[in-house]
Amino acid sequence: MWKGATTSMAERSHSHYIMRLFYTVTIWATFIHCTNGIPWTQEKFQHRAITLTQGEIRAALSHTDLEQMWQRDLMPLLVTRYPGSAGSQAVQEHIKTTLGSLGAGWEVTEDKFVSQTPYGPLPFTNLIATLNPSAKRRLVLACHYDSKYYPPQWHGREFQGATDSAVPCAMMLELARALDEELKAQKSSSPNLTLQMLFFDGEEALFQWTSTDSLYGSRHLAQKMETTPHPAGATDTNQLHGIDLFVLLDLIGAAGPRFGNQFPSTAPWLSRLQNIEKRLHSMSQLVEHPNSVQYFWPDQFVSHILDDHIPFLNRGVRILHLIPSPFPSVWHTFDDNEQNLDRSTIQNLNKIMQVFVLEYLNARPTVPSTPQDDLQTLPQH
Ligand SMILES: [Zn+2]
Repeated sequence: MWKGATTSMAERSHSHYIMRLFYTVTIWATFIHCTNGIPWTQEKFQHRAITLTQGEIRAALSHTDLEQMWQRDLMPLLVTRYPGSAGSQAVQEHIKTTLGSLGAGWEVTEDKFVSQTPYGPLPFTNLIATLNPSAKRRLVLACHYDSKYYPPQWHGREFQGATDSAVPCAMMLELARALDEELKAQKSSSPNLTLQMLFFDGEEALFQWTSTDSLYGSRHLAQKMETTPHPAGATDTNQLHGIDLFVLLDLIGAAGPRFGNQFPSTAPWLSRLQNIEKRLHSMSQLVEHPNSVQYFWPDQFVSHILDDHIPFLNRGVRILHLIPSPFPSVWHTFDDNEQNLDRSTIQNLNKIMQVFVLEYLNARPTVPSTPQDDLQTLPQH
């Protein structure tokens, strides 16, 4: 009886072991199947950002410098730069030179074309900067570098388009410069995911906004990307499939911006920006930022706005549109100039965007060891 009982317990335990082994193998096999079995174009839907430690955040943000951004990147952009103008050419050179001089090794290409406009045919140039062109998946940051054209009767006053969109472009250049080391390291640590920056020409209507007199650059590039196989030689996927998330920055630089939610499918990423805002607030990294949340409002729904994301949205690309609601009061007036920019807001948003990009790209900065850290790692006596 006792022996019998033992045998039966042993049998039960053996069958438990078999069952456990079966479940373990099944779960394991499912896991392997999921990680290797989903098409690469679906990976963006399961993408997880990392959360940097406070030490990593401090290390990452130690290189960003508003004054340097102002002099080096913003001032060269605050010129009349409508499509085909001398200012446009100078701004293009500035963007190409800046990104080309960084250690991370950006590939910068041009998308040049001529389009009919109410003023006749005009030349347009989009700039596309890709950190690692061989990576299939891209986090895209986008802005427009053209300024709105004001005909000669307005002469005597120069439209700077500071928030529209010199500041967003300067923020992107500052991000690339400040995170140069981290982005360089990310290239080898995550070869399938990279950062791409799009600088659009011809966002503004030249005469009056219509479907053909606006979004010249983004309409052209979205169509071009849709017809460009990606990765090279692919037969059923194109460059648009490579966009994980299309983050468009526009009308940024005035005090007190509020970014609401236009697209439920990407609301989690807006929530993540709010979460970063809270974390940086608690670390006292943000200036003139009295409440833990001031900028990002994922629960506040705002209506759709026509902007450079539209040609991409219409082709199924996932959009995060960072444009304040309401627009800055200086929008499309000659007061949209350097004097009316809010430095604290720009500096805070620079920091939030830089952490967002690193966390999305799973890029952990190297934390420099301090003498105190060294002491802590010494053997205890
Ligand atoms: Zn505008």
